[in-house]
Amino acid sequence: MAETAGTTGRTGAGGAGTVTNWARTVTYAAREFHRPRTPEELAALVAGNTRVRILGSGHSFNRIADPGPDGILVSTAGLPQTVDVDTAARTVRVSGGVRYAELARTVHAHGLALSNMASLPHISVAGSVATGTHGSGVTNGPLAAAVREVEMVVADGTTRRIGRDDARFAGVVTSLGALGAVTALTLDLEPAYGVEQRVYTGLPLDALDFEAVAAAGYSVSLFTDWRRPGFRQVWVKRRTDRPAVDFPWAAPATEPLHPVPGMPAVNCTEQLGVPGPWHERLPHFRAEFTPSSGEEIQSEYLLPRPSALGALHAIDGIRDTVAGVLQTCEVRTVAADAQWLSPAHGRDSVALHFTWVKDEAAVLPVVRRLEEVLEPFDPRPHWGKVFQIPPAALRGRYPRFADFRDLVRALDPSGTFTNAFVRDLLGH
Ligand SMILES: Cc1cc2nc3c(=O)[nH]c(=O)nc-3n(C[C@H](O)[C@H](O)[C@H](O)COP(=O)(O)OP(=O)(O)OC[C@H]3O[C@@H](n4cnc5c(N)ncnc54)[C@H](O)[C@@H]3O)c2cc1C
Repeated sequence: MAETAGTTGRTGAGGAGTVTNWARTVTYAAREFHRPRTPEELAALVAGNTRVRILGSGHSFNRIADPGPDGILVSTAGLPQTVDVDTAARTVRVSGGVRYAELARTVHAHGLALSNMASLPHISVAGSVATGTHGSGVTNGPLAAAVREVEMVVADGTTRRIGRDDARFAGVVTSLGALGAVTALTLDLEPAYGVEQRVYTGLPLDALDFEAVAAAGYSVSLFTDWRRPGFRQVWVKRRTDRPAVDFPWAAPATEPLHPVPGMPAVNCTEQLGVPGPWHERLPHFRAEFTPSSGEEIQSEYLLPRPSALGALHAIDGIRDTVAGVLQTCEVRTVAADAQWLSPAHGRDSVALHFTWVKDEAAVLPVVRRLEEVLEPFDPRPHWGKVFQIPPAALRGRYPRFADFRDLVRALDPSGTFTNAFVRDLLGH
């Protein structure tokens, strides 16, 4: 029987031929699969093997987590999952494998909050920040922006702690898992806040004031299936401790909606302006529900935010091609951050996300066509999703790319945490 990352209970070691990602679109080609129970077991596995990749909750859609046939895949799911909140310092130290839903519940119980969350709370903290995962909001950086310190087991089995005051810090959070096994992260918190969420329907693309719409809430998402011009839904999440901004551009929905047509809204966080705690409104999907059955493939590109309108019109020009294999497209904003390999590095960004049908043969040609029309806008793909842009082209899109490559050589000289995905990207 196939095992999906992080969801079933296989313990100890074994062949990894049947371990898949969450969507079951990737079967990891690892020599062995391990689920250590203690930090000591983890350190021994890392020190005793020449090729290691760490698996979080397995929500990535490409081979970023795959060690390949000569390596071992090590899940964080069996390790002690601790969440230690320091209320005075307003920080939390969390094990790498903890999922955001659990982290958020504990932090909220202490009267504190994260500044943002992704659409799905089921993803692990270390895996999310490693790929540059983000939510939305013109003033909200990616989730990695909250990280103050990273603790990781490096190739010789010892633990390194690298904090914000270290010159290497900007390379170690969004690391693609290429530096070591992240055992814990310390994150910034703020006082708990309330959020109310409203969905608006029918926003035209023509005459769209993207900047105004994107700034009309703390976190704003536009959804379209590209079957017709414009956006079917706009999700506006407003903090209740900040002044409300009008939304005159579209009509408020009168019933709860799911972003994918035909899916039940019962899986979604509460809408219709009912105020609630931050962690029950910022994700689109409820923590206690499985958001979908994994019948999907995802792609996403981050572009400079001033390009948003141009890029949306460019996609509109190939609307029929995109719509043919699309479930839904979500447009969000991400504030610039400093992580060297963050897709939002150094530029306030618009993030164009695509949930495709689960048919790789049909989807990949559309992904390539989409990348052609987005090319003039300098797109950086989400590291955890499906893309076709060649590694050589990507290197030039990250001004600190050479620094990251040097950091990999310095922290992991034996290349223990380098897999084919990372090797191709680094170009060695
Ligand atoms: C339904 C769904 C919704 C999503 N929504 C969003 C969204 O709103 N915004 C967004 O930006 N992305 C989103 N994603 C993408 C997702 O956030 C990323 O793929 C993220 O990497 C998932 O975390 P994970 O723990 O599952 O990572 P995995 O897929 O397990 O691993 C990703 C990478 O992180 C590394 N890694 C994992 N844990 C560790 C560790 N402890 N130490 C070292 N390296 C580690 C792995 O080796 C791998 O390279 C979504 C994905 C799905 C399936």
